[in-house]
Amino acid sequence: MDSISLSSRFNKTVLQQYLSLPQGDTCLVTYVWVDGTGQNVRAKTRTLDKEPQTIEDIPEWNFDGSSTSQAEGSNSDMFLIPARMFRDPFMRDPNKLVICEVLKYNRIPAEHNLRASCNQVMEQVKEHVLWFGMEQEYTLFGTDGHPFGWPTHGYPNPQGQYYCGVGADCAYGRDVVECHYKACLYAGVKIYGTNAEVMPSQWEFQVGPCEGIQMGDHLWIARYLLHRVCEDLGIVASLDPKPMTGNWNGAGCHTNVSTKSMREDGGLEHIEKAIEKLSKKHGEHIREYDPRGGQDNLRRLTGQHETANINDFSAGVANRAASIRIPRQVGQDKKGYFEDRRPAANCDPYAVMKAIATTCLLD
Ligand code: ADP
Ligand code: MN
Ligand code: MN
Ligand code: MN
Repeated sequence: MDSISLSSRFNKTVLQQYLSLPQGDTCLVTYVWVDGTGQNVRAKTRTLDKEPQTIEDIPEWNFDGSSTSQAEGSNSDMFLIPARMFRDPFMRDPNKLVICEVLKYNRIPAEHNLRASCNQVMEQVKEHVLWFGMEQEYTLFGTDGHPFGWPTHGYPNPQGQYYCGVGADCAYGRDVVECHYKACLYAGVKIYGTNAEVMPSQWEFQVGPCEGIQMGDHLWIARYLLHRVCEDLGIVASLDPKPMTGNWNGAGCHTNVSTKSMREDGGLEHIEKAIEKLSKKHGEHIREYDPRGGQDNLRRLTGQHETANINDFSAGVANRAASIRIPRQVGQDKKGYFEDRRPAANCDPYAVMKAIATTCLLD
């Protein structure tokens, strides 16, 4: 049990006593943003005197960027600009979560605010009614840094029994998955599904289909909810794309994509055109698909464990060893969507979406 945090062992009946106190007309708003790592979220909370009805009712705020590796020199105040509002499943109605953009003192987007430029591209391609669906894989760790549920010495059984597995010998940490799922539904995150992954203590949830910029907003809040649920349960969710070396699967963030014309009869032709364009920009995309310009994916995209080698571009129907997969059903229906399997689990969805939209629809 030492792998489970001390805080998670507080008496939850006592917590409930306070959470159930009335709060009058006030509304707690938790502002969530991406910090200077480009992959971690930060959050802080304030009181509004009444419930905001729309995003415009939530005021701008600020934070100390020197404590999140985001500030430049002596100008440490950064602006938080509310972008999309969700319900707060922890403090419950009427309280809110809000995903924010970060601006510098001069009101220029901060270095890791990739939403601003993604949004510009999404506006430019609006007529295509671009949909995304992202599959977020993650791995659970104890607070001691050891994979959750793995034996203290040695390894669990090799991979084979865990993907979509059921039973105490196959599924490690399902409480996280179920709490997170309900939290997403309550919040208004468009969660699509979930499954146990190939490596023990590795899981996946999917978000989508979402139109345009919404995809990134929903995925970042879903990640916030995941980390927050894990905090309550006393363990840690890692988005490292290759958490365990050796014969263990890595973690990706497969990105499914379709335009209006791809979804209509004969759409396969448009899917093939998009793939042709992607094939000419492989290097550019790899640089956008993890927060270290491809360095993180170097450990994951080896050509093994259901990945294509980072140096090669490939595409195929039902091929999970390709960069781009056309789902079998889509091949049969000759319409639908395609899956870009390259983005790493710790990618910034805004960077991935912007790269795909630019290559497929603007070039
Ligand atoms: P996989 O077989 O690759 O594991 P999943 O079932 O995990 O697929 O995920 C499917 C994803 O595809 C979901 O995120 C879903 O939102 C997304 N999706 C489904 N239809 C479309 C579509 N027409 N356009 C874009 N994304 C879609
Ligand atoms: Mn999946
Ligand atoms: Mn998966
Ligand atoms: Mn997939």
